Amino acid sequence: MGLFVNLGGWMNVELSKIRNIGIAAHIDAGKTTTTERVLYYTGRTHRMGEVDEGTTTTDYDEQEQRRGITIYSAAVTCPWKDHTINLIDTPGHVDFTAEVERSLRVLDGMIAVFDAREGVEPQSETVWRQADKYHVPRVCFINKMDRLGADFERAVQSIRHRLHPHPLLLQWPIGAGDEFKGLVDLVTMRAVYYRADELGANFDLGDIPAGLERVCQDARRRLLEAVAESSEALMEKYLRDEPIPEEDIRRAVRQATLERRQIPVFFGSALRYIGVQPLLDAVCDFLPSPLDVPPVKAGDAKRPGVVHEITCDPKRPVVGLVFKIVAEKPVDLFFLRLYSGTLKGNSRLLNTATGDKENISRIYRLFAKRRDQLDEAYAGDIVAVIGPKQSLTGHSLCDPRQPVVLESISFPETVISVSVEPRSSKDRDRLFDALQAVVRQDPTIRVAANPETGQTLISGMGELHVEVVIQRIRSEMNVEVTVGKPRVSYRETVTAIGEGSGSFDRQIGGRRHLASLELKIEPLDPKDGDRKSEIVHGASEPPLSSEHSQAIERGILDAAQSGVLGGYAVINWRVTILETQEDEADSSELAFENAARIAFYAAMQAGQPVLLEPIMDVEVITPDDYFGSIMADLNTRRASVRDTTVRGQERVILASVPLSQLFGYVTRLRSLSQGRATCSMTPSHYAPVSSVEMKSLVG
Ligand code: GDP
Repeated sequence: MGLFVNLGGWMNVELSKIRNIGIAAHIDAGKTTTTERVLYYTGRTHRMGEVDEGTTTTDYDEQEQRRGITIYSAAVTCPWKDHTINLIDTPGHVDFTAEVERSLRVLDGMIAVFDAREGVEPQSETVWRQADKYHVPRVCFINKMDRLGADFERAVQSIRHRLHPHPLLLQWPIGAGDEFKGLVDLVTMRAVYYRADELGANFDLGDIPAGLERVCQDARRRLLEAVAESSEALMEKYLRDEPIPEEDIRRAVRQATLERRQIPVFFGSALRYIGVQPLLDAVCDFLPSPLDVPPVKAGDAKRPGVVHEITCDPKRPVVGLVFKIVAEKPVDLFFLRLYSGTLKGNSRLLNTATGDKENISRIYRLFAKRRDQLDEAYAGDIVAVIGPKQSLTGHSLCDPRQPVVLESISFPETVISVSVEPRSSKDRDRLFDALQAVVRQDPTIRVAANPETGQTLISGMGELHVEVVIQRIRSEMNVEVTVGKPRVSYRETVTAIGEGSGSFDRQIGGRRHLASLELKIEPLDPKDGDRKSEIVHGASEPPLSSEHSQAIERGILDAAQSGVLGGYAVINWRVTILETQEDEADSSELAFENAARIAFYAAMQAGQPVLLEPIMDVEVITPDDYFGSIMADLNTRRASVRDTTVRGQERVILASVPLSQLFGYVTRLRSLSQGRATCSMTPSHYAPVSSVEMKSLVG
């Protein structure tokens, strides 16, 4: 017997019948179209959306529809038979890997969509590796079987060679390209023919076409062989040639999928409405429920070092993770994955990252175009709530009686920035609101105002990433802005210990402000945890008042915002405050803040400062023919090539390249390879700029 819970009058849901899944794919493999079909068949949209017409349901953003890529993830519930499928959108573009990782954190299973003609493509490989990292069980959907040149056997081979040694066919396609008509189910050995004129909602069951009987028999034997390996009883039956019941086959495939020993493979054409319902059945049959995944670990918020195992149990205290915030008027929607407990509307939870008590005023289950309010939501589910004020993506919300911290979602340093300026004063206020909304929704975007120029800098993880944000501000939020050229986000650091002193003595507003101090700066290895800066208070005699100590910290942190070389932020440093001189009558916070700033710069000058530049990990995949010219081009970009491998007819180049050398690289790569090479880039680390480069940058 499973665990039954009542979902706020909406329906009774057994936890074992919940599926939290994502769909991942290379751009253009058909993720959006497949999602759209899923929403249609699960009965929650009334009109079939067409990507090419820009009317799909999951893509809330106008811009996404135009670009045809899904950037902002949302979660949508799709009831299928007696199951509840929560579909978490997974962005496909590599510039948004942080978004992909964030979705992988909260989903339990994944559908990987491939183009039947292209097979495995670079981005599908990237996402696949990320899913491996999070131990996510998967099924494959080989889409576009109707496409000219579709070759399912080659596509399956590419899965076998590049992603997983054991793809497991549960279907055999009937025809390909224009002749693609349907599928043979290798478990039931029945053929399914789709009626295209009825949007595939109806199909006819029939016999296996005569020409396919042999291959289907062989394929079924391979399927049985594979499932027989999972239990002795099945193996015995198989060896004795006894019939194996359908139920047993499905159970064994499920087990192998959950353990990631095998990857079930399905075929179809989302465009022609073929194969989507069997795919939904497969999600229910083979992908994990929240009860099938191991308990998550969470640190005790009060006792450092103590770790709790959070089990998926509605009777235990509530633990949830905010994994997505969608800005809405009048209040934001917070997407929560509930790991434990029963969440009630009109309740309060503790945010263990901020210490705030947050209101959960309402709980919603979101469908593509409408939302249902729930009285309660349960462990294992994904819901949206309104009410929280201070919570951000990655924060844990939990029952105050058991305060725990789930592993947060980490976001890398930004590497590129552009300046934006409002066109009019009316736009200025709107820009401020728009930027706040952007930052809440996408924690990998940072925003900073430059007080000197009056400009605002938007920083992100790559050229396209920032471009997309600006596009949103313009079109969706209706703000007119002037945008500067994208610029590399340099940083500064010190390479040696340096000491410096600072004094401040001025007459301001009728009183004297006096302070002086000495401090030491030293480099901090970025590999030592995440901390990129640290302030240590040396023992000053007599001890400094806490207001003045804090003023010194403020001064140091402020100074570190812009270093001594080119005004770039200073990272990887530790400052120790050595000596302070406080005058009882004349010392002030203002004086200490300023003295600290002066001392920081003096110490930094003495610490042999250097400029750091972001280095990107670049992966280029190219047909053999263009390998030479691509390598030659990389060499002109100060690339250090780490590895080159041969993969079938293709070469894969892995290189580290300074971001400053990569502007417009994608266009260049296209022209070098007649559009056939592809590349992906992600920020890797910061490295010192050579002295020659530094001269050209800081004069
Ligand atoms: P996404 O980038 O992975 O979300 O892919 P889309 O769903 O936006 O599809 C990209 C393009 O491929 C669109 O023009 C679709 O109409 C087309 N497409 C999607 N599925 C199929 C299919 O099954 N067969 C064919 N021939 N085209 C498809």
